[in-house]
Amino acid sequence: MITNCHRPVHLEKALDLRGTDGPKKLVIAGGTDLMVSLQEVDPEVEIELLLLEGIRELEEISWNEKNIILGAGVKVETIARDEKIFKTFPGLKEAAEQLGSWQVRNLATLGGNICNAAPSGDLLPPLIVYDAKLELTSSKGNRVLPAEDFFLGPGMIDLKEDELLTRILIPLPEKGSGSRYEKFGIREAMEIAIVGVGVGVVLGKEGKVEKARIALGAVAPTPIRVPEGEKIAIGSTLEDNQIKEIIRSAKETARPICDIRSSENYREDLVGILLGRALKKAKERALKKGWGKCK
Ligand SMILES: Cc1cc2nc3c(=O)[nH]c(=O)nc-3n(C[C@H](O)[C@H](O)[C@H](O)COP(=O)(O)OP(=O)(O)OC[C@H]3O[C@@H](n4cnc5c(N)ncnc54)[C@H](O)[C@@H]3O)c2cc1C
Repeated sequence: MITNCHRPVHLEKALDLRGTDGPKKLVIAGGTDLMVSLQEVDPEVEIELLLLEGIRELEEISWNEKNIILGAGVKVETIARDEKIFKTFPGLKEAAEQLGSWQVRNLATLGGNICNAAPSGDLLPPLIVYDAKLELTSSKGNRVLPAEDFFLGPGMIDLKEDELLTRILIPLPEKGSGSRYEKFGIREAMEIAIVGVGVGVVLGKEGKVEKARIALGAVAPTPIRVPEGEKIAIGSTLEDNQIKEIIRSAKETARPICDIRSSENYREDLVGILLGRALKKAKERALKKGWGKCK
């Protein structure tokens, strides 16, 4: 039973409320996930809502010489439409523009997608590929965690009762980098990913991969990296035979399940197809930008 609804306009107030005793407080950003799960709340249990919409500090988008800083309350549609984000972090924009429909994207927030921690969450693989850091804040202070360490299981995150996710810091890409997000769903719009694949590579002057990050969504309880595949990529020029090896490794790393959307084998095949496409596109982008022309 919802007994109260708090709508603070300042972050400090929201953190105070989050830290106070009393009935459990459910945090709502855009509500596109939470309103659905509210139906499962026991009507006998008292809960209060803590609305984040309207807290301007959470809507920050700023750039400095090292990072882009995105507030947790930034709308997914804002990311999908931002040209500078596309030029710098194309995989993030590609994930954002494929999330739900524009109606959903205009409510949905970056922080909500992260804290909902669905294995299929579209923004999660690119955030891991770009080595995003999450700022988790309580009224006592804050801590910063790499995005890939935040996810503990489906819907389970490393967030304390009194904390909010406040900002996401993404380091600017190095020279010679290229990236891509590939998603497959049964329909083109309003579709949760059956598989999502994020790839980022840094090519050296001779076109060899110096750094690689691969993140898979919807094929394990949390988004996962493919450490063995990344090792295979390093030193290669991403030729077809090398891509085949990376795909083999990714399929071994994935732990897909069979559910209403897909069989396990179908998901495994999709990992191969999407990863092959993402690697080629990331390489093409890195080469097109040219070494030394990254930012
Ligand atoms: C029709 C439809 C289609 C969808 N399609 C997709 C899709 O294609 N891909 C996809 O990835 N998702 C999809 N979603 C899911 C959802 O829209 C996204 O996950 C969205 O980003 C959630 O953001 P939100 O602001 O609405 O989160 P909310 O629903 O407000 O919150 C989600 C969870 O995060 C917590 N939370 C939110 N913000 C914070 C914060 N700052 N600090 C701490 N906890 C916080 C909430 O307590 C809640 O547990 C879809 C949803 C709908 C209804």
